[in-house]
Amino acid sequence: MTKITDLFVRNRLWAERMKSINPAFFSSLADQQNPEFLWIGCADSRVPANEIIDLRPGGVFVHRNIANVVVPSDLNCLSVIQYAVEVLGVKHIIVCGHYGCGGVRASIDEADHGLIDNWLHHIRDVHRLYASDFTPDMSEEQKVDRLCELNVIEQVRNVANTTILRHAWERDNPIEVHGWVYSIKDGIIHDLCTHTADGLKAR
Ligand code: ZN
Repeated sequence: MTKITDLFVRNRLWAERMKSINPAFFSSLADQQNPEFLWIGCADSRVPANEIIDLRPGGVFVHRNIANVVVPSDLNCLSVIQYAVEVLGVKHIIVCGHYGCGGVRASIDEADHGLIDNWLHHIRDVHRLYASDFTPDMSEEQKVDRLCELNVIEQVRNVANTTILRHAWERDNPIEVHGWVYSIKDGIIHDLCTHTADGLKAR
C-alpha cells in the first residue's frame, strides 16, 4: 500500500526524471500554459486524462466530475470551459466517458445513493430520452455501456449549447467538441461524435 509520505518521494523522483529528459521542462512551463485541448472526463481514478492520451503537463486543460456531466447550472464546469475557450484558446474540447462507469451504473439501479442521486439525475434524463435504445434482451452490462455512450453524446450537445460555444462559433472560431468513450479493459479510446458550428456528426 502506498503511504501518504511516499507521495513526496515519488514526486521528487518524477521531477528529477522530467528534468533529466528536458532540463528546461519546468522553467518553460512556469512562464505560461498553452494547451490545445480541454478534457472533460469522469473523476474515476482509472481514467487519468494526461496519461491515456500520453500528454505531459501543459498539454491538456482538465475538468473532471462524476460521470463527465455538463450542466448549464454548474458554474465550476462553465468557468473551466470559458477560460479554456476565451483565454487559453483551445482548439478542441473532448468529453470523454468510459465503459463500465460507476456513476452511469448508479443512475439506473434502484438503490438509494444519497446526495449523489441529485447529480446522477442528469444521466437518468439521458436514459429516459433514449428509452427506445434499451431493449429487454440487453444485459445489464450492455445497458450501462450504451448509456455511457449516449451520456457522452448528450454532454457534447450540452457543451455545444452553452453561450460560450455559441458565441465562439458566431465569432468564426473553428473550435470542435468531440465525444469519446474509453475502455478501461484495453486502454483504447473510441470516437463517438464531433460537434462543430455546423452541428453534431455521429461516427
Ligand atoms: Zn466514471
